[in-house]
Amino acid sequence: MVSQRRYLLKNVYEHEFKDIFGATSVNILARNMVSTLTFRFRRTDVYLRNEWFNYTNWEWDDFKPFGIDYKLNTTIGKDLSVDQLRKDFDAVFLGMGLTGVNSLLVDGEDNNGIDDAVRYIEDIRQAKDLGELPVGRKVIVIGGGMTAIDMAVQIKKLGSEDVTIVYRRGQKEMSASLVEQQNAQNNGVLIKHWSKPVRLITNDNSVCGVEFEYTSVKDGKLVGTGEKYKIDSDMVFRAIGQTFEDDADGLPTLGSGRISVDENYKTSISGIWAGGDCVNEGEDLTVSAVEAGKKAAESIHMELS
Ligand SMILES: Cc1cc2nc3c(=O)[nH]c(=O)nc-3n(C[C@H](O)[C@H](O)[C@H](O)COP(=O)(O)OP(=O)(O)OC[C@H]3O[C@@H](n4cnc5c(N)ncnc54)[C@H](O)[C@@H]3O)c2cc1C
Repeated sequence: MVSQRRYLLKNVYEHEFKDIFGATSVNILARNMVSTLTFRFRRTDVYLRNEWFNYTNWEWDDFKPFGIDYKLNTTIGKDLSVDQLRKDFDAVFLGMGLTGVNSLLVDGEDNNGIDDAVRYIEDIRQAKDLGELPVGRKVIVIGGGMTAIDMAVQIKKLGSEDVTIVYRRGQKEMSASLVEQQNAQNNGVLIKHWSKPVRLITNDNSVCGVEFEYTSVKDGKLVGTGEKYKIDSDMVFRAIGQTFEDDADGLPTLGSGRISVDENYKTSISGIWAGGDCVNEGEDLTVSAVEAGKKAAESIHMELS
């Protein structure tokens, strides 16, 4: 994989630089899940709202010969408008992911000890010293997807004594694959099914447990059975899904809360493409984001050639 990418970059650089510079850059960058990607003539700018990113230095070093410039701490919609980007560049690719997090909708979520799993995972990724991260002794992770599994396994490895994933439906309904579930269990994580949180138990503004209600399906609907139980906990993580933050002015038309695109990943605004988790066809998988980047790059290349 690595050597293929290196070969592609070398090939483009030596033989096809003029023709496919822009589109190939978009392709390669989008394949690697780069954020908001733009290019003008032979210039490609990447805007990221954070000052960190998920790439190793050698990957960025590989991009440098192409004149790719990345601007960190730049939030599209706040520091720079979508309209302005559209005016400044021939093509804009939005790969904004899902940065909003669903709330549990129970009382007490503003207490200490309750956090979003993705935010904590972000801290793990950026930590210079993992020993400085807060690690609870008894941890509850609420959710049933890969974020819940990642969160539970990572905090267990960081030293938590008891880690429990609680999911409102059964094992088969969890969006995390069986392999992922088994991976968590092999790492000492307990998974409880058919339970939903009804109340956070707190003491001195800090969480000390969660009350759950058993659930079942009645007439096709998930309902509480009325039977409740408590789990002690000094740390609770929400991992019940992420949402597209649509507060940036001038975004293309949305459908089902995400950016609508056609089969070429074109949005409702001419000159703006989008792909990855932020579009409504997104499967929320890395491989789908990679494919979207590739197809969008081809489409941009065709349109600008
Ligand atoms: C904890 C966790 C575990 C996962 N595990 C798996 C797994 O095992 N396998 C799998 O296939 N998938 C997994 N996924 C899903 C996978 O990470 C995503 O499908 C993939 O990252 C989507 O890529 P993307 O480029 O669309 O968005 P992202 O990778 O989310 O990138 C979006 C980027 O855009 C930036 N951004 C957002 N808004 C703005 C703005 N307004 N201005 C500037 N920048 C902005 C964000 O900060 C971010 O850097 C997991 C996800 C999570 C959260």
